[in-house]
Amino acid sequence: MQKPLISLKNVKKYFPVGSGLFGKRDRWVKAVDGVSLDIYPGETVGLVGESGCGKSTIGRMVVGLTNPTEGEIYFEDIKLTDYRSKKKLGKNLQMIFQDPYSSLNPRMTIADIIQEPLVLHKIGTKKERRKRVDELLERVGLASHYGGRYPNQFSGGQRQRIGIARALVLEPKLIVCDEPVSALDVSIQAQILNLLKEIQEDMGLSYLFIAHGIQAIKHISDKVAVMYLGKMAEFAKTEELFNNPRHPYTKALLSAVPEPDPKLRNRERILLKGDLPSPSNPPMGCRFHTRCPMAMEKCKEMEPRLLSTSEQSMTACLLYKDKIAT
Ligand code: SF4
Repeated sequence: MQKPLISLKNVKKYFPVGSGLFGKRDRWVKAVDGVSLDIYPGETVGLVGESGCGKSTIGRMVVGLTNPTEGEIYFEDIKLTDYRSKKKLGKNLQMIFQDPYSSLNPRMTIADIIQEPLVLHKIGTKKERRKRVDELLERVGLASHYGGRYPNQFSGGQRQRIGIARALVLEPKLIVCDEPVSALDVSIQAQILNLLKEIQEDMGLSYLFIAHGIQAIKHISDKVAVMYLGKMAEFAKTEELFNNPRHPYTKALLSAVPEPDPKLRNRERILLKGDLPSPSNPPMGCRFHTRCPMAMEKCKEMEPRLLSTSEQSMTACLLYKDKIAT
């Protein structure tokens, strides 16, 4: 049986926001509050939800940029916190950011930016590193002679290609893509998503793909995790999630997506009431009950657990617990 590449076990991340008597911390933002998730070699798991749902914090924990408050993350069966060398971990786990411009040093040439991880890891001679840079530039659809230019000489889409080349230079096993297309024009978004897919096929990489737009998630993911206020509302194979969404929050997210099929265009739009509650003071019971069009009295008190609702999906909603019981 195939083992997961990355495994999150009941992971929590709380950030302190206030202090009470004697400076004791008494308030916390529960950015991630008990998430378990496996990512297998060669697969893409999409993580979707509104801003503040905890998806980027999960991405940062997966690459070791921040440690969980509770719970464990395993990379190939070894706890991330047991890796003494961040460098060793960084070789296998890389990240692509939303704003490639702010993640590229404006004073460095593109060639120096891409080869910097090789220099830090003391890999290759100068000539070998430059050859690798040229190969990667071509792999991401840029001419190799662009290596001598600076980040401000490129468009947003080209800068994201440079960010991808830099993430690939150490031949990682998993890349966390944190909203990599959100800042790009729609036409460029498709090009970057296709490039990521081609690279995955060539190199057998895994992706944790984070986005607030569910269309990009659909295009690239094998499985999708829908997050709401630090918890997973639904986890399913992509086809199952889009054809048969179960959680009322997933249904609302999908109802907002423009439908290309004219027969389905009259689908009812589900408008969620109110704003996302604060993660420092999440609602009791089901966290979604303050906005859920299907909320029942018991949803204010009982917190639903993530349960299997089919062979290909899991849902955290009391509606489905009832269905299974009856
Ligand atoms: Fe809505 Fe209740 Fe299900 Fe939560 S548990 S999603 S409030 S129906």
